[in-house]
Amino acid sequence: MQIVNTIEETKTILSNIRQKNMSIGFVPTMGALHEGHLSLIRDARKDNDFIICSIYVNPTQFDNNEDLEKYPRDLNNDIDKLEKENCDLLFNPSNGEMYPQPDTTEFDLGYLDEILEGKYRPGHFNGVAIVVKKLFSIIEPDRAYFGIKDYQQLLIIQKLIEKFEIPVEIIPCPTEREDDGLAMSSRNARLSPKERKIAPIIYTTLKFAKINAGFIPINELKKIVAKRINKNKLLKLEYFEIVDAETLLPLKTWTESNKMIACIAVFLGKVRLIDNIILFY
Ligand code: AMP
Repeated sequence: MQIVNTIEETKTILSNIRQKNMSIGFVPTMGALHEGHLSLIRDARKDNDFIICSIYVNPTQFDNNEDLEKYPRDLNNDIDKLEKENCDLLFNPSNGEMYPQPDTTEFDLGYLDEILEGKYRPGHFNGVAIVVKKLFSIIEPDRAYFGIKDYQQLLIIQKLIEKFEIPVEIIPCPTEREDDGLAMSSRNARLSPKERKIAPIIYTTLKFAKINAGFIPINELKKIVAKRINKNKLLKLEYFEIVDAETLLPLKTWTESNKMIACIAVFLGKVRLIDNIILFY
């Protein structure tokens, strides 16, 4: 695997690949790679001739300095994992390379970046849009792979490419979980052993919501979910919403839509975790 830190080098390598008529699959990440990330690399490997992964902890998408500082970083381990997956190229730029000047672009993402995550992490999706658009313009991939775990991010990326007519196919990839159901996340590394032990409650609660979808009125189900989460002292529910899977708008009744997803954000101690479950699709 080649490892490059500059935009120029990346562009040169990829233009050679394109000249050979090889397809390029791109997996953007912030590193501290786990099986979830590696499943995206494997999906990319199936569809493309050449795989590029980026590792870049993008400061513009962090609304909280402590979260940025404490974000897990483990480059040597990441490189080993990518080599085992036969990734062809790792793009690992510095902040100076990605942001030679501060980028103050403000994207109009409609209401999409104001609800759910957007409500609690103002500016987060604008930062994601800034960096993903930059990465797409550097890499010009044929296909890019994103996890359904970050469902709202996936819809926002889809909106971004439609808006700017970026010729890339977005491939949604399923959520990889630990054996006890906890969605894999780089942030899980920050959980204490005690916190880690109770973390599966998040997914158990989502499964409970799925089993009861259509039976218990939505408002009541939301109250029960909040109770189930908050009864544990280490957990604090930030939101639990049942939304239309295409518009992300919150639903009040089970008959309003036939494609629904339940999204949750929970603080476990100081670590904020998100997850979701498809109810009907
Ligand atoms: P991150 O490094 O957290 O920015 O994630 C990079 C990509 O990996 C994003 O498209 C995420 O949605 C995806 N991802 C993160 N966790 C998982 C998971 N548990 N299963 C599948 N994909 C994931």
